[in-house]
Amino acid sequence: MKKYEFSWDLIGDIGLGRPNLGKDMDLELYRLMQFTLRDVMERMYGTQAADRLFYEAGKLAGKCFYERYIYPVSSAEEFISKTQRFLREKKIGLLRVEEAKLDEGRLVLTVDEDLDCSGLPQLDYETCIYDEGFIAALMESFTQENWNAKEIDCWCTGARTCRFLVTKAEAGAAETGVVETGTVETGVAEAGAKAD
Ligand SMILES: [Zn+2]
Repeated sequence: MKKYEFSWDLIGDIGLGRPNLGKDMDLELYRLMQFTLRDVMERMYGTQAADRLFYEAGKLAGKCFYERYIYPVSSAEEFISKTQRFLREKKIGLLRVEEAKLDEGRLVLTVDEDLDCSGLPQLDYETCIYDEGFIAALMESFTQENWNAKEIDCWCTGARTCRFLVTKAEAGAAETGVVETGTVETGVAEAGAKAD
């Protein structure tokens, strides 16, 4: 049995627990937690594993987020508009759809003012791996099929928005984490190649 299996109950009753401070906090501290976690993961497990862990955590978050805020939806339009609304309401980012070819298994999304990266200094690689997992899981939850998400532009690569290419996984791809993990590694390697 897992000690840390996620459920929304773990987040607790914030109104009860923080009657004076409430549920809002300084975003700087959210990033502090994320970037220190990533630093330690990289130090202990290596860059590739740290990226995989972030992708997988993003996927778990996306799945839970879908179940809590997006489900049920009856059409792709409703799925997109509800996702836009909640990403804005929760101040995760401003989602736009640049290209939507769901039946061809291809979407291009942008997220402005992204929670994780907007305002970061210039880097030579895309950084929003958690978001990649998050977006892939939203698509998987909606379609019940396997999807990959890859950030192709990021605030910190100079794009001033995060742009994600979201593609349906190859037919026949197993639903195990092993295959998905392989895909993530490929994606990360491609990101490095693109940035050069
Ligand atoms: Zn980004």
